[in-house]
Amino acid sequence: MQEIILIKNGELALKGLNRATFESVLVKNIKRRLHGLGHFVISRSQSTTTIEPTEEAFDMDEAVERLSKVFGIAAFQRAAAVEKDMSAILSAACDYLQEPLSQIRTFKVEAKRSDKDFPLTSPEISAEVGGRLLETFGHLSVDVHHPDCVVTVEIRERFAYIRCNQIKGAGGMPVGTGGKAALLISGGIDSPVAGWMMAKRGIVLDAIHFASPPYTSPQAEMKVHDLLRQVAAYSGDIGLYTVPFTEIQEQIRDNCPEELFTLVMRRFMMRIAERIARREDCAALITGESVGQVASQTILSLGCTDAVVGMPVFRPLIGMDKDEIIVRARAIDTFDISIRPYEDCCTVFTPRHPRTRPKRSLLEDAERALDVPALVERAAADAKFEIIRNEF
Ligand code: ATP
Ligand code: MG
Repeated sequence: MQEIILIKNGELALKGLNRATFESVLVKNIKRRLHGLGHFVISRSQSTTTIEPTEEAFDMDEAVERLSKVFGIAAFQRAAAVEKDMSAILSAACDYLQEPLSQIRTFKVEAKRSDKDFPLTSPEISAEVGGRLLETFGHLSVDVHHPDCVVTVEIRERFAYIRCNQIKGAGGMPVGTGGKAALLISGGIDSPVAGWMMAKRGIVLDAIHFASPPYTSPQAEMKVHDLLRQVAAYSGDIGLYTVPFTEIQEQIRDNCPEELFTLVMRRFMMRIAERIARREDCAALITGESVGQVASQTILSLGCTDAVVGMPVFRPLIGMDKDEIIVRARAIDTFDISIRPYEDCCTVFTPRHPRTRPKRSLLEDAERALDVPALVERAAADAKFEIIRNEF
């Protein structure tokens, strides 16, 4: 029996040109994601995209797993494609649905015909299929109002399709419809989640990581790689810039008041990130900050970091509790990587009593002791580039 996948696109409110772009980017992303699983054809009609394998060996289970990570898909279903003949439909329904129906108690059948030449009407098809399922599976009963499962039989041009059990998709917008932004990624719990959330809105990610060897270890950089690989399973390939940050951190330690270390450092990160972002055509920065989480994330501190940036800074976690962020981190498989115990540059030279109510003028005074433009320029120029590939 041949199996296909039917995909319901997300964000159906989109209209006109936006919708056409949305759909063509989605199809491109799906093709790229299913690459290597075997030959298939992909077609679109209205809000449904159909994937039809054209070789036996096509790996359906793997395809479903990969599709569950493609943004822009609201829901999808596997379906059996059978000959348009009632006895073929009845026996295929019993075979194909055996496993899912064994796990539920109530069902109803919905039939749709786009082929009006089919000899039975939709209600007649529903009645026949429902009757056969009741006969075959003694534990089932029909509930037209609140069924555990809706069995759908659809008579289309070439085949009849039988399906049940919708699988929830990743939702959001296809990556590539929202432009490109640069994610500041540490090794912590928050920033990978922030990147994932923006990719879900259709944004292509570049990533920027500040490393301070020998204070930070190669394992800390490996951790960032591993985190980004998890995010890339959803967002597609991510360009990573690793910025040498040791010199700047030492200069801050040697020349600035201790209580301002963290904020001066954060302002450097933002300046350097903006410089790289502009060079690489990113239109915004993304961070994993959330109000009040640490001293550098009070609203006054965030104001001081924003003050040095001339492009939008997105902080999708801004109103989330740590618990909520952790739930998301677990769901996207980044949590266990994030809690590996390697130091990030933020934990090097941390002040004992950081300022929580900083004044911008104080920071500007402190930074006068440093050659800010030269340090920013050099760090951005020396950033090492590599691509973190979506390997799933
Ligand atoms: P995270 O869990 O993402 O590390 P955090 O709660 O530990 O966040 P901070 O360490 O203050 O918070 O960092 C705030 C944000 O600054 C991070 O979410 C990240 O976007 C950015 N950031 C921090 N450290 C680095 C780094 N070494 N390289 C790049 N960005 C960083
Ligand atoms: Mg951190």
